[in-house]
Amino acid sequence: MSAIRLIFGDQLSRQLSSLKGIDREQDLIVLMEVSPETEYVPHHKRKIAFLFASMRHFAEGLEEEGFKVRYFKLDDSDNRQSFLLNLKDLLKSQKYSRLILTEVGEYRLKCEIDTWQEQLGITVEEREDSRFFISVSEFEEFAKGRKQLLMEQFYHFMRNKTGYLMENGKPVGGKWNFDHENRNSYDGSEKIPNRLRFEPDLVTKSVLELVDKKFSKNMGNLDDFAEPVTRENALNFLDYFVEKLLPHFGRYQDAMVENEHLMFHSRLSHLINCGLLLPEEVCRQVLSKVGKDGYSLSGIEGFIRQVIGWREYVRGVYWTEMPDYRNLNYFNSRRPLPSFFWSGNCRMNCVSQVVKSTINHAYSHHIQRLMITGNLALLMGINPIEVHEWYLAVYDDAYEWVELPNTLGMALYADGGLMATKPYCASGNYINKMSDFCKNCSYNVKKKTSYDACPFNYLYWHFLNKNKDKLQSNSRLFFPYKNLDKMDPQKIQAITKSAEKFINECS
Ligand code: FAD
Ligand code: SF4
Repeated sequence: MSAIRLIFGDQLSRQLSSLKGIDREQDLIVLMEVSPETEYVPHHKRKIAFLFASMRHFAEGLEEEGFKVRYFKLDDSDNRQSFLLNLKDLLKSQKYSRLILTEVGEYRLKCEIDTWQEQLGITVEEREDSRFFISVSEFEEFAKGRKQLLMEQFYHFMRNKTGYLMENGKPVGGKWNFDHENRNSYDGSEKIPNRLRFEPDLVTKSVLELVDKKFSKNMGNLDDFAEPVTRENALNFLDYFVEKLLPHFGRYQDAMVENEHLMFHSRLSHLINCGLLLPEEVCRQVLSKVGKDGYSLSGIEGFIRQVIGWREYVRGVYWTEMPDYRNLNYFNSRRPLPSFFWSGNCRMNCVSQVVKSTINHAYSHHIQRLMITGNLALLMGINPIEVHEWYLAVYDDAYEWVELPNTLGMALYADGGLMATKPYCASGNYINKMSDFCKNCSYNVKKKTSYDACPFNYLYWHFLNKNKDKLQSNSRLFFPYKNLDKMDPQKIQAITKSAEKFINECS
């Protein structure tokens, strides 16, 4: 009997498990643009445009290959703006015995799908997402009995599992991790290459028009949209990264430069997360450069760690810890998200730079997300749910399975240390070391409490002081707390005053 094969917007891969064994004559592939998916957070215009354009091209490709496809565009008159209602309509007009889908990436959608079998009256077959290196159940097995889910242990496990950068059961180069070689600031000696651009075709142009009209109030603009939205262009994008950028990726992984949002980062996350690229093929291409002129082992290891380590790890944490994870708030942070997170209008040059790159590109790189906006939200005590919803809305690679653990666990330590061994908190000193932002800032990074002192400085000490009971026993914070203990009480008072004034003015 024939089946409906439902494909979601972040599942645009011909290798998808729900397409396995498809009957070209009988089965119907269904893709839908539905408004609730565009509205549960106010997504960036570029995120919506990227996904709809990629979905439409993917569906076209399937049709060209001879598959039967039903695509619901957002403004189609018969689109009932609900996965379930559209499926019900399809089942009214033709008999299908099964609905086949690949497990989804967000808990809220999974809960919806769990009710479909009963509501639709047909078998719903949910298949594992084989695009990942490890299944959710394998991760659960790994996590069983562990008090902390440390990424480094998981990474060793994944290196052994994949065999990547392994030789005779040992890590290539004699070490698992070469991170200490990947922490240079940028001195301008390597020119940062321009990125490939893919001018919109007619399909993409019609999406851009739709998004501009329907989502005019959302963040961002679409003026020079030139993202890869087809498999072919995504592969070109990957080639370009591996040839031109990977040689410098590792060294400048943590560096930040004014008006330069990409540095040598791959900018592949939105392509991998929506299925246009498979993580395995990305890793294989990167690994093909081991030992080649111009490529360092530290850079390659650094990249592989992000993909088989961090990416798989956050997914495992998400599915193991949800639904409770979303509500964790270890520091009981309650402040609202300041409005400059949406506008970038802020005197702190670092924050303004990162938010503006987010507005312009729906992208900022990892250290910008972690050590500028994330760090600020942590130090200011912003409510984790508000921070989470912001990150989920503004980046074109954001889906809850990957965004939530990065935000709650990594940036905000809201899980009390399940993922991180200490909060990623830093003063202006770190930002000054890793970027050139402070040169053009109206605050002074060397000053601690005066009216023009860098806010990160007093916010950092205020945060440590305020959360002493929760953090002082953490051995990784031994030195900061030793310094705090030696601090003159009057200085602590001045820090508290400056921090509270700043936080109140931002609220
Ligand atoms: P590169 O630096 O070139 O890294 C290579 C690849 O490794 C990425 O494409 C990505 O697939 C993977 N990767 C690297 N770091 C991580 C990580 N920490 N978690 C998962 N995968 C990783 N990543 C998302 O894909 N979606 C998100 O919504 C998201 N939200 C984040 C929120 C916060 C607060 C933080 C601190 C990080 C978040 N990340 C998220 C992780 C990371 O910042 C992005 O994956 C990365 O910036 C994407 O840019 P890139 O492709 O140029 O990455
Ligand atoms: Fe950011 Fe402080 Fe440097 Fe200004 S001085 S750019 S606020 S770290």
